[in-house]
Amino acid sequence: MEEKNSFLKEKIDLKSPNKNIVPISTSIGEDGKLSIGGCSIEELVKKYDSPLYILDEITLRNSCRAYKQALEKYYPGESLPIYASKANSSLFMSKLVSSEGLGLDAVSEGELLTALKGGVPNEKIVFHGNNKSDKEIEFAVRNNINVIVDNDYDLDRLEKLSNLSNNELEIMIRFTPGIECHTHEYIKTGSFDSKFGFGIEYLETLFSRINKTKHLKLKGLHAHIGSQIFELDPHKDLGEIMVKVILEAKKYGHNIDKLNVGGGLGIKYTENDDPPSIDEWVRTISTSVTKACKKHNLDLPILMCEPGRSIVSTAGITIYKIGAFKKIPGIRTYLSVDGGMSDNPRPITYQSNYSACLVGNPLNINSKNKYTIAGKHCESGDVLFKEIELSDCKTGDLICVFGTGAYNISMSSNYNRIPRPAALLVCDGEAEIIQKRESPSDLLKYDVLPDRFIKQS
Ligand SMILES: *Cc1c(COP(=O)(O)O)cnc(C)c1O
Repeated sequence: MEEKNSFLKEKIDLKSPNKNIVPISTSIGEDGKLSIGGCSIEELVKKYDSPLYILDEITLRNSCRAYKQALEKYYPGESLPIYASKANSSLFMSKLVSSEGLGLDAVSEGELLTALKGGVPNEKIVFHGNNKSDKEIEFAVRNNINVIVDNDYDLDRLEKLSNLSNNELEIMIRFTPGIECHTHEYIKTGSFDSKFGFGIEYLETLFSRINKTKHLKLKGLHAHIGSQIFELDPHKDLGEIMVKVILEAKKYGHNIDKLNVGGGLGIKYTENDDPPSIDEWVRTISTSVTKACKKHNLDLPILMCEPGRSIVSTAGITIYKIGAFKKIPGIRTYLSVDGGMSDNPRPITYQSNYSACLVGNPLNINSKNKYTIAGKHCESGDVLFKEIELSDCKTGDLICVFGTGAYNISMSSNYNRIPRPAALLVCDGEAEIIQKRESPSDLLKYDVLPDRFIKQS
């Protein structure tokens, strides 16, 4: 008997969920089948159907606590971890992160509203975006939400709003520090090609410009250098660069006392991935900022960071049901599932890799078959796994894909008019709905037939 999927047998890191492939509460029952949060996945699918998104509460809470505790441990000043809600935005996520004392970052009125309705305190919300609408900016200012100024257009409108109300308005600015990293590599350039934020070479002009406004008060700096990052050096460099910018701003009379270093810590999607722990990442940034401040005799700013993926990704799994098989002799066998690019656009968009197993045989005992797992959409590229080894499986069996908590539901679509799956929260043997399954008729809700087409028979 040969067992594969050793990731299911690895010791789970409770303190840094981003270092595991599976949610913390994953277990294999006496029947040899997969369960999460004390719930049998087979039973959940019987009750809630598939595809199904599932979030593990303990993994989510441990990730939030890891950021909070590490900041308290390594950063002597005040600090606040802020959840980047674009990774997975819902009333539930807003409630969960605020119950753990985190703030939240939003990039649209929709995300802002979700945060406020979910109970995130206004002063802990930050509003980002490279093209905020007038309505969005006014909404944020009216609700006392911190606006991160991304460009001159933002500044113009904030200046106008503060003049209208004749009130002082605190702002933070986003800049591009000349560090760029996306995956396992990073480059440093004088300025870099990004649609976000002010170029570092423009900052002196910006500082003078802010001085000419009547009511705008520059209080904070923000930078975000990439995502799914496995190296620590880029953030060490970032801390130093940001402190230098504080010093530069001082020459123009600005007292910056908030530093927001963005997010970006990677997670383990497959056994080839080895991200740093949350603790190491926070220690690197805290040390870099603390040292640089000490060197230049600066008071420690309030330190903020904005993790998205590393809070929610490992907590989430997606369950699919196997349908059709197509064997192309000598080439491959396609196994099709009841979801795909509409519930997880990452593989077709970024060629992202994941880990998966059969729910009924998670350890893949006697695996000998290689499959290509295809989605059900009308797109040849709708493939979730190019090649995966699985033991014998048949139509009706369930597949669990790990690490889908971030950038799946939030990037989902209704392509091919496929309704979005339901999302469940599991904890201590209980499962609760946090997002209802859409139905095909829900998708007709916004369709309108002009009258003259209705009159036509
Ligand atoms: C996307 C984003 C984040 C979160 O990035 P992760 O890689 O998910 O941690 C944080 N801040 C900003 C401004 C972002 O755009």
